[in-house]
Amino acid sequence: MTTTPFTEPPKKRLGQHFLHERGIISKIVQAVDPQPGDRLVEIGPGQGAITFPLLERHHELTVIEFDRDLIAPLTEAAQSRGTLHVIHSDVLQVDFTALAAGGTIRLVGNLPYNLSSPILFHALDHAAVVRDMHFMLQKEVVDRMAAGPGSKVYGRLGVMLQAYCRVTPLFNVPPGAFNPPPKVDSAVVRLVPRPDSEITVIDRALFARVVRDAFGQRRKTLRNALSNVCDAEAIAAAGIDPQHRAEQVPVEGFIALANLLARNGA
Ligand code: SAM
Repeated sequence: MTTTPFTEPPKKRLGQHFLHERGIISKIVQAVDPQPGDRLVEIGPGQGAITFPLLERHHELTVIEFDRDLIAPLTEAAQSRGTLHVIHSDVLQVDFTALAAGGTIRLVGNLPYNLSSPILFHALDHAAVVRDMHFMLQKEVVDRMAAGPGSKVYGRLGVMLQAYCRVTPLFNVPPGAFNPPPKVDSAVVRLVPRPDSEITVIDRALFARVVRDAFGQRRKTLRNALSNVCDAEAIAAAGIDPQHRAEQVPVEGFIALANLLARNGA
């Protein structure tokens, strides 16, 4: 095994918290469980904490890293371990559909926490080519992603993700597993995009607008929160009580309402 030639200190502005806890790293690799033929893509490989164990097991991996200082050390440290394709870019500029080249990709990453929502929505935009995702995020974000109606943390993120993916929180990770330790607890989550046959949303932009407005002022009743989108009759026609608040409505309720509006040409 080569000694890794990483010399730069972690950069806070890039959300660099490098994993060092071996037990957690192997749990992530086990959760991903790469199979022959899989095209693995890691977002933010950093100093290779997850990259090198994945590469040793799977022999080929693509990584997307924004930090210029990490590109040469990553490439060098990978040489004895397998084939590492390094893309030096902001992940939000990477076209996952082009990267999949007609097949599918599996995304992995201990994400920069300041960018987790944009990265999740970017991945959703390419969900048709993403087979699954295993991401380390703030635990609080994972809780929001997986929450259901009635929960205090049920909101826009959970509804939008659950409409298009199965969301499964896997395990929690304490701050001490990272260098430097973040101020918050973390968690690993699995997202599996639903097949087209399971996605019932007719107009994605309209669905996104209904969900955004409904949770925009979550203390308001739906009839008030959605007054720019539809009237109380439409809400009732979708099987939802217009006096309810967004946090009481299941994902299917928002889909039913957006679909009703789409059919009525809203
Ligand atoms: N995977 C490594 C680990 O677990 O130790 C590093 C994880 S660290 C939390 C996040 C990584 O994402 C850093 O390497 C950082 O440079 C990289 N990063 C930050 N912003 C990025 C962006 N916009 N696109 C791609 N990578 C980014």
